[in-house]
Amino acid sequence: MAQQEEVFKKLISHCKEYGFVFPSSEIYDGLGAVYDYGQNGVELKNNIKKYWWDSMTLLNENVVGIDSAIFMHPTIWKASGHVDAFNDPLIDNKDSKKRYRADVLIEEQIAKYEDKINKETEKAAKRFGEAFDEQKFRETNPRVLENEAKKEALHTRFAKALNDGNLEELRQIIIDEEIVCPVSGTRNWTEVRQFNLMFSTEMGSTADGATKIYLRPETAQGIFVNFLNVQKSGRMKIPFGIAQIGKAFRNEIVARQFIFRMREFEQMEMQFFVRPGEELAWFEKWKQTRMRWHKALGLGDKKYRFHDHDKLAHYANAATDIEFEMPFGFKEVEGIHSRTDFDLSSHEKFSGKRIQFFDPELNQSYVPYVIETSIGVDRMFLSVLAGAYSEEVASTSSATGSSAAEVTAPVAEPVEATRVVLKIPPVLAPVKLAVLPLVKKDGLPEKAREIMDNLKFEYHCQYDEKDSIGKRYRRQDAIGTPYCVTVDHDSLVDNQVTIRYRDTMQQERVPVAQLEQIIAEKLSMKNLLKTI
Ligand code: ATP
Repeated sequence: MAQQEEVFKKLISHCKEYGFVFPSSEIYDGLGAVYDYGQNGVELKNNIKKYWWDSMTLLNENVVGIDSAIFMHPTIWKASGHVDAFNDPLIDNKDSKKRYRADVLIEEQIAKYEDKINKETEKAAKRFGEAFDEQKFRETNPRVLENEAKKEALHTRFAKALNDGNLEELRQIIIDEEIVCPVSGTRNWTEVRQFNLMFSTEMGSTADGATKIYLRPETAQGIFVNFLNVQKSGRMKIPFGIAQIGKAFRNEIVARQFIFRMREFEQMEMQFFVRPGEELAWFEKWKQTRMRWHKALGLGDKKYRFHDHDKLAHYANAATDIEFEMPFGFKEVEGIHSRTDFDLSSHEKFSGKRIQFFDPELNQSYVPYVIETSIGVDRMFLSVLAGAYSEEVASTSSATGSSAAEVTAPVAEPVEATRVVLKIPPVLAPVKLAVLPLVKKDGLPEKAREIMDNLKFEYHCQYDEKDSIGKRYRRQDAIGTPYCVTVDHDSLVDNQVTIRYRDTMQQERVPVAQLEQIIAEKLSMKNLLKTI
């Protein structure tokens, strides 16, 4: 774990050094849990959004998009339950004066038992080698069984306390489990209290009587209040979905872990409206579809898992999270919820408007049920970078040219102990192609520019003529550029260039005319979408 934390720290500084993510207002010492995206970060973020948007609106003819305002009528947040119930249970450590979410502290404790079980199993697997029967070991080893029992007991007690909204019991669990504050190391805890996460501001001048309004804590409500508008103007028939990407704001108290938990963040949400009674089948369908969307990126299937909710929100009758293995453990990236007819019914009640759909097949009107898929752009961004970040011992063969690539005249790479490379899925990479003249004279820059001018309409290209070619490759590795193209003196004669692949560092001599064809396949959003 310590090693993983080390990797996480490196990833954070890498993000800053290479223009992905900066702390907000940095010259004024920053603003807690608010971040800005830099020149490479914004490209990656836009590509993630495009991948999501296209997968929703192109692949499903019954899903359309909207872009609703951040400011909304304040009664919306009463109807949604956010004014009364959008709370986190908080606990303070009296010695460090640090504040924590009580549920997160307990979840981390559950994860510790799980860790112990996994470590015990890994140790045994090493000891027994091929003869190891993991299932039998887990079912019989006394230490595994003991930790399993502790985990289960804690889990049950925790789920009950959450469902009952029993704050005293949450505190008692923290005391009984001897959970200490990571900063002070003590168990000197306050009571658990509830804290509302919504930011508020005022609209209108005070003389006119200003209205208190909220910065939306989720984008979903903008979709619900536009249900009728979209259904009628688009002549949509149930089942259909509405997708939206936009900013959301939460006054998170425990704002740690970089862009994982921010106060201003971005969501990609889709609400899918279905017939009452059919919602659980659609829930299952979207659950599987969304998992395929994640796995299609090729960051490793083992890095994802579902986590079904113990405590269902007041509006839900089924809920699961898609978790990704971050450097600090498996964490939620996306939530999929069956929200029943809670939201639309509630807006009917609070607005006094009839929000129903006349189903011609059933010859009846009803308030549709809703399946929601809700993913944070920033958490997705973090999962892509965490999955892509890699420190490698650079192979000497690529420098000496002893590989097959030598035959096709490679450009020598320096022998360096390590290289840091972001193996970002090519479709999402901020820069797709770097064009590098071997030297900045003899007509090579002009030839390089000519190549770039041909490709720049479709792909984000970067031109770089400074420093040795090896250094330039490393710079491109560090921002995840999948292809580097080097122009040398021979290129002027034979109209061929050396293409160098990021992940393998293999080099190949190819005709300029074939470049586009070679890179197009892997950079094609269409090809990626076809695999979902
Ligand atoms: P958590 O339990 O981690 O606070 P949540 O269950 O409250 O998350 P949802 O309300 O389901 O989250 O929001 C949907 C998605 O929005 C989450 O899966 C996550 O990707 C993203 N998200 C929520 N809160 C934040 C935040 N503070 N910073 C960044 N992304 C967030």
